[in-house]
Amino acid sequence: MARRVAVVTGANKGIGLSTVKFLCQKFDGDVYLCSRDQTRGEDAVKELEGLGLKPKLFILAIDDEKTIVNLLEMLKKEYGGLDVLVNNAAIAFPFNSTVPFGEQATKTLDINYFAVSNVCDILFPVLKPGARVVNVSSALGLLDRVKCPELKQILSSPQLTRPALDSLAREYVELAQTGAHSEKGWPNSNYSTSKILFSALTWIQHRGFKNDPRPDIVINAVHPGYVDTDMTNHKGHLTPDQGAQSSVMAALVPPNGHPRGAFIWNDCSVVDWKSHEFKF
Ligand code: NAP
Repeated sequence: MARRVAVVTGANKGIGLSTVKFLCQKFDGDVYLCSRDQTRGEDAVKELEGLGLKPKLFILAIDDEKTIVNLLEMLKKEYGGLDVLVNNAAIAFPFNSTVPFGEQATKTLDINYFAVSNVCDILFPVLKPGARVVNVSSALGLLDRVKCPELKQILSSPQLTRPALDSLAREYVELAQTGAHSEKGWPNSNYSTSKILFSALTWIQHRGFKNDPRPDIVINAVHPGYVDTDMTNHKGHLTPDQGAQSSVMAALVPPNGHPRGAFIWNDCSVVDWKSHEFKF
């Protein structure tokens, strides 16, 4: 039987690096530390090698389709597919960024929604039976952040389709160019919107896996907590190791086990994405 394999995107630092570290210790197979930059990736691999671990490096920019296809080909050739995918890579503009809001909206949704969706579209066909997918969302990606009841209903509908969600994402970007997004009930945060859409995508993907001929493919969304990383300008109160706990738990859901199609909080409890409220 082919060796098992796990892939973590955006893993050269922060929560992704910690996720690779724990998977190297707990996952029965090879673990790929993906980095879009060769040197940053090599340095991260060296750091984990210093702990006696043996991650493998793959150069993956989630917004560069060529690198996703390279990963796909490697996985097919070396492993006959993919066992664990952790969609961890994301961006967030700093609060004090001077880049215009509309420009930030385009870039943030390009990476955190459209590029991540594309990674899934390309890699899901090679997920093996029993595969686990982890979509790293955020407390800012809870439905509670949306203020318009109609929009909430659309986003949480079990009938929501991928084309409809893509259209909503494009519509948001357009609205954000003129600042009209808030009137339509979207949060006044591109990052938050990107994670709400990514969470909604997770439920669509979950429904797809329930009807997939490959048995027991499990997908969950996770909130890592407020973590001390570059993304938070090191203001988070959790360490990256603590922030990785929900991703690791979701990556290692046992055969036919739970949770599945759930929103997993940083303490590894399951919360209801549709109704959970979180005060920042
Ligand atoms: P981070 O330290 O900024 O790390 C982000 C990682 O994503 C880096 O490895 C970065 O690579 C990579 N990345 C960014 N754009 C990419 C692209 N186009 N292609 C490939 N890789 C790309 O952030 P973090 O705090 O660890 O965040 C990890 C995940 O947790 C993200 O999904 C984030 O939204 C989520 N999250 C974080 C917090 C928190 O408090 N930190 C809270 C909730 C959710 P480079 O080093 O090359 O830039």
